[in-house]
Amino acid sequence: MPARRTIGVDLGGTKLLAGAVDQRLGVHHRVQRTVTGLRQRALLDVAVDAVNEARESAGGDVAAVGFGIPCLIDRRNGKAVVGVHTPLADIALADVMAERLGLPVFVDNDGNASALAEHRAGAARGAADAIVLTLGTGIGAGLILGGRLYRGARGAAGELGHMVIDFDGPACQDNCPNHGCAEIYASGTALAREARALAERRPGSGLARALREDRQLAGPLVTELAHDGDAAAIEAVQLIGERLGIVIANLANIFNPELVVVGGGVIAAGELLLAPARAVLAERTLPFLHENLQIVPARFGVEAGMVGAAALALDGLEGIER
Ligand SMILES: [Zn+2]
Repeated sequence: MPARRTIGVDLGGTKLLAGAVDQRLGVHHRVQRTVTGLRQRALLDVAVDAVNEARESAGGDVAAVGFGIPCLIDRRNGKAVVGVHTPLADIALADVMAERLGLPVFVDNDGNASALAEHRAGAARGAADAIVLTLGTGIGAGLILGGRLYRGARGAAGELGHMVIDFDGPACQDNCPNHGCAEIYASGTALAREARALAERRPGSGLARALREDRQLAGPLVTELAHDGDAAAIEAVQLIGERLGIVIANLANIFNPELVVVGGGVIAAGELLLAPARAVLAERTLPFLHENLQIVPARFGVEAGMVGAAALALDGLEGIER
């Protein structure tokens, strides 16, 4: 019998990434689509088309499909409840896609999917208690507790980006009614914002030069300038790293994890980001909580959500609730 394959789909607000994945989570065929601004019907058509392309590339031998989407999922009825930058709220995506694809379909939050990938075959492999943070537009997250993905009472656990860092802080984005959430301070968006502010204060810096040249001061350029040694860019990354350390200090107090995995575009900064996070964690928590706590980069990068969605489908086939 050939090895069983599943298709994982990371369906974000701007792009869709699908791949045929084997049981050891090796990716064999990749399909990418831009989905910016699509309405629900068009988005579903693109998803069906992408899955079929990946399925054909894999020789048709596919057992199930998993989707990771930027929504809260109601575990009781499989409906996406609140969508961030995606028009998928209020449909039972698994049922709709299963009917259109003729395959079993499983759906979860993208933060959970990424955590599953890192736990099954990435930086958190073998860890019993680990937290996976993805710093992008916001902060995606997933909790591995007692060796399993922890989903909470209704499936909405692990929204760690909405932990309050400053109760008087600015309003959060999208549908979050809260103020001063962690993702306002320690995401890829926050890095871009702090870099712009520093560029204006330091006219002689590489950041300021890039701004004058009309280059986009987003995460990739800021981390590149930081690696090149630009002091202002290093300062911007360090600031985000220190705030990440505060987030992790809170998580250490609540969950006592052995490992925190950091992914998303910002992790391209590597130790420039993680060293300040570790320093702040050590300052702000008891030694008993931080001395065995490791903070490491994610393994899967941009494919974490897609690989995790495929793992979700494998688990679903086996009837495993993780
Ligand atoms: Zn929030």
